[in-house]
Amino acid sequence: MTACSICSMIAERSAPGGFVYEDDLFVATIPDKTPVPGWLIVSLKRHELPLTSRLSDAEAAALGPLLRRLVAAAATAVNAERVYNTLFGEGAAHWHMLVATRTSEIPPQDRQVDLIRSAARYSDLDRALRAADAIRAELADHA
Ligand SMILES: [Zn+2]
Repeated sequence: MTACSICSMIAERSAPGGFVYEDDLFVATIPDKTPVPGWLIVSLKRHELPLTSRLSDAEAAALGPLLRRLVAAAATAVNAERVYNTLFGEGAAHWHMLVATRTSEIPPQDRQVDLIRSAARYSDLDRALRAADAIRAELADHA
């Protein structure tokens, strides 16, 4: 049993709705605590500190194209006006970043970092699961 919550989630595939995306290096999942429709957590499969400077050359080279694909798919899936890409590294000590869609339904006072603060208000697991299916379909259409 590992003490790392992200390693455990990956090993047990325990994210809500399973993996939205998976390759040899990364997985993308619905955030379990804030399942805002269209939001994804991109996690490195290998345990590593949440510093992008710690990525291997192969991981760093794969990250840009992967983010581009996930952002495009998430934006289309929920008709987002913006998609925030954020890595704080203050929670789990395992490399992961948030891909956070911002739709027109989000009022101006809840945009940018305030959207992260108010994520609980916009969380809806049923809608997030449907959005994840739409993201999977977009990824399959643009493989
Ligand atoms: Zn870990």
